[in-house]
Amino acid sequence: MGYSPKLTFYVGVFAVQQAGRVANKIAIVTGAASGIGQACALRLGQEGAFVLATDIDPAGAEATAGLIAAAGGQASAHAHDVAEESAWQTLVGEAVAAHGGLDVLVNNAGIAIGGSIIEMSLVDWRRQQSINLDGVFLGVKHALPAMTDSGGGSIINISSVAGIKGAANLAAYNATKGGVRLFTKGVAIEAARKGWNVRVNSVHPGIIRTAIWDKANPEFWAEMEDEDAGGANRIELEEMAAVQAPLGRVGDPGDIAGGVLFLASDDSSYMTGTELIIDGGICA
Ligand code: NAD
Repeated sequence: MGYSPKLTFYVGVFAVQQAGRVANKIAIVTGAASGIGQACALRLGQEGAFVLATDIDPAGAEATAGLIAAAGGQASAHAHDVAEESAWQTLVGEAVAAHGGLDVLVNNAGIAIGGSIIEMSLVDWRRQQSINLDGVFLGVKHALPAMTDSGGGSIINISSVAGIKGAANLAAYNATKGGVRLFTKGVAIEAARKGWNVRVNSVHPGIIRTAIWDKANPEFWAEMEDEDAGGANRIELEEMAAVQAPLGRVGDPGDIAGGVLFLASDDSSYMTGTELIIDGGICA
């Protein structure tokens, strides 16, 4: 599916093809203002997709759309809270109205609230679930019909190594990311069995250098320091990654964007319901 049938026609006539591994696909990336989401949005834009960069931080989404434009790509920015169903209806409606359909959804927005489970409030538990898991459910629910109507697509849900293995002081986060992992598989099978032509996969980053670590609540870092696992600054993140990841370094958001690009592209056309672990070997 192209930006519009008319544009695709003229592009063909004048032989000016949009180049790249996801050329002419329409892609939504949530949480695109920062970190992994920003890297995914930029990479998809560089590889020829039109990117709808969305975030609860609209100025950040604008900045990412600007980066994509500066790199020669095409993007729009959207204020969007993934936990709000009406925001999803509006966003998917805008994608369809402006571009005629939707090909790629990267459900990336997320937060981390850690600390001992016996200290965690129900309010914090529900807040984390609402963004990390409800947000993915709502995105899948509203993107699937739009993708099916436009001939098919690829949904990529960002889980975590914390969706594969448990960790002390991260049990509530584990619950959200483990939920994303198995939700992905269930939806993948339903979509395949019903012939919707939509592939659904999860990506599992390890320790990646982004702002999520700085934003984590003090209780999380207090417990981590108790375990002598590091503090909230970037040097200590490096140390934590050096210990946990056999490759011996912290990951870069671009490391995750490469995997997301692959799953968004037709190179992965026989992959659905799988989990792509990008963690420097932590889970090996
Ligand atoms: P980040 O904090 O840099 O970026 C997260 C983005 O999500 C921010 O721009 C934030 O504004 C946005 N966001 C937060 N709440 C939102 C909401 N309700 N609606 C829309 N947007 C919202 O963090 P990141 O590390 O880039 O995290 C991206 C994803 O990767 C998350 O799902 C996270 O759980 C996952 N992840 C990160 C790591 C890591 O080490 N950084 C590891 C595993 C998984």
